[in-house]
Amino acid sequence: MPDTTLHDRALGAYLGLAVGDALGATVEFMTPREIALRYGVHRQIVGGGWLKLPAGEVTDDTTMSLALGQAIVQQPRWSLHAVAQAWVTWLLGGPVDCGNTCRRGIRRFMRDGSLAGPLADGDAGNGALMRHLPVVLATWRDEQAFERWAIEQAHVTHHHPLSDAAILSLGHMVRDWLIDPDTADARMRSRAQALVDTHPVFRFDPYPGRASGYVVDTVQTVLHHVLAYEDFEACLVAVVNQGEDADTTGALAGMLAGARGGWQAIPERWRRALRPQVRHAIEQQVNELLRWASILR
Ligand code: MG
Ligand code: MG
Repeated sequence: MPDTTLHDRALGAYLGLAVGDALGATVEFMTPREIALRYGVHRQIVGGGWLKLPAGEVTDDTTMSLALGQAIVQQPRWSLHAVAQAWVTWLLGGPVDCGNTCRRGIRRFMRDGSLAGPLADGDAGNGALMRHLPVVLATWRDEQAFERWAIEQAHVTHHHPLSDAAILSLGHMVRDWLIDPDTADARMRSRAQALVDTHPVFRFDPYPGRASGYVVDTVQTVLHHVLAYEDFEACLVAVVNQGEDADTTGALAGMLAGARGGWQAIPERWRRALRPQVRHAIEQQVNELLRWASILR
């Protein structure tokens, strides 16, 4: 493990999320075969895709995370209401995209102020998982706060045991990389195994080969590739070329691989390809979230 600071790894996780989002968005909803025919191997941040993005633009995965993080650092204490309000502002601002379950949850809050929906079979999408990173960074010193707030933010839009389990599992993996990088790799493998032991549906070895927005498909794709590929670029290229929900699988694989290697592990051409406003917002928010964590009460 080359020398990386906690700040390097936190920034690596957040920039990794954005880079994976921007890279994957180009091939979102395509099949691996369609990607191969069109791009050979897709490995450049070039925009396009079904959203017709400019190169370096990110999607809801990153912008919902930024809205959540902003809501955290602007309050003296954790306020779920402020988080939900930030997503209202985000939705009314016309984001490039918004998943149906996220939209429904935000609209429900707008209508009646409810901060959690009832447990629902249809809530097993990856929309709450994809945006939880700011909670991890804000609570890296407090495990209980992490677990409570990560689930609270989720239930505003997604209330499902598989979504909850995925968030706690991947969130803990990022925390491990922040707290003790020397043991984090072994812990990541045992946490992945524990997730499968508790919820066998997540079994990712052998890799089942689906990468949809169903949280099980997403997590299988992310864990399989992050554990199989040490190198950040090789990992993300393999992930996004699975297609389907490629921006979100890319974002989550980038989050874990970026926490593992720090921002230095992210290819420079990908970091530079990000829209500068996004990169600066992330750099600033990482500093603010880590400062916020240090005064967490
Ligand atoms: Mg997206
Ligand atoms: Mg997506």
